[in-house]
Amino acid sequence: MIAAQSNLPVDARRISDIVKGLARITEPDRPYTRRAFTPLFLEGRAFLERRFKAAGLDTRIDAAGNLIGRRKGRKPALGTIMLGSHSDTVPEGGRFDGIAGVAAALEVARSLADAGIELDHDLEIVDFLAEEVSIFGVSCVGSRGMAGLVPDGWLNRMHDELTLRQGIVEVGGDPSRLPSSKRSDIKAFLELHIEQGPVLEVERLDIGVVTAISGITRIEIVVEGQADHAGTTPMGRRRDALVVASSLVLEIEKLGFAHAAGEGHFTATVGEFEIEPNAANVVPSRARLLIDARAELRPQMDLFIAEVEGLAARIAEDTGVTIAPPTVISDNHPTPGDLLVVATLEAACGRVGARHRRMASGAGHDTAWMGRITKAAMIFIPCRDGRSHAPEEWAENDDIALGAAVLLEAVRRLDGLLQEKK
Ligand SMILES: [Zn+2]
Repeated sequence: MIAAQSNLPVDARRISDIVKGLARITEPDRPYTRRAFTPLFLEGRAFLERRFKAAGLDTRIDAAGNLIGRRKGRKPALGTIMLGSHSDTVPEGGRFDGIAGVAAALEVARSLADAGIELDHDLEIVDFLAEEVSIFGVSCVGSRGMAGLVPDGWLNRMHDELTLRQGIVEVGGDPSRLPSSKRSDIKAFLELHIEQGPVLEVERLDIGVVTAISGITRIEIVVEGQADHAGTTPMGRRRDALVVASSLVLEIEKLGFAHAAGEGHFTATVGEFEIEPNAANVVPSRARLLIDARAELRPQMDLFIAEVEGLAARIAEDTGVTIAPPTVISDNHPTPGDLLVVATLEAACGRVGARHRRMASGAGHDTAWMGRITKAAMIFIPCRDGRSHAPEEWAENDDIALGAAVLLEAVRRLDGLLQEKK
């Protein structure tokens, strides 16, 4: 989709080498699977570490298990500009989610070296540990560590006799020194990622400059009806939990549509649904549903939560079936992109000749955690049919290369803009 790739200041072939090299490191019968904490993940890490070192980066693994390569700047007192993403995948995931961002970040460091450009800031390239939901049931382990926001108790989470604490040791981290992975010297963080949606492809654009990463709120609703014989209980005398839960699902979808028509990105999904006793001849006695709602703008989410509470109360009253007040079981607020970094990325797109638009991310990313400790923002590149977390996931190498050129330009600009000492 890009014209005039050849004069980009980055080397697209080196990006392709990283993407293809990691794609080969997969469970052979379940491409592309390289989950964090598995031997294949370590193999992928070893591959990346060799490439980091070959690029002249001073390479280490921090206490939280992040792989970091550093290129010294002329004025270390200014602090660090960091670029990166993640190399772990979901089961049967893709070749580009996270990986494109690590490859592009590394290419920025190599291109600077090739051009003989010294930055004032130190530049660090990072492969965050376990961005995807890991075998321990939690995600963004490395970026939370770097932000000093690993929740109490997480290190004791278990999977097959292994604790997360031991898992971090196995990847070369040091959980006993976890607080040391928290950083205060990072002056800016940038991440390139595939869009995981169809917008850029449909609009024939090269880059999405991400203005916010949506907050994610999960709300549980339990409907308590009454189990009765399905053959003998007349239709008018039932308290059917499933029927009531079904009307809830449809009303929640309507709320989702109404908010999506508003200003910011918004989605609402009932993704988990269970009924009891789930037997053909019994009127359902209980239904549990879990809403995943995502909003770019927090006031919209506050309103949605209140609307869901009102909806549950109204349907309970109309039907005589008991619905417990909806429970918010997790509630992460949106992370706005840093205004200076967003503006710098837009200017960099202009300089490089990338057609771009602003957009919000509906998915979570490491950038959401880095945004807690530094000026952070991300860019999206197009992916085919918006597909991700699937073997069919695809991004054009030239699109990744153009994104890397945008990162390179943005890093050079930020290096000049962020001249306050740390
Ligand atoms: Zn990702």
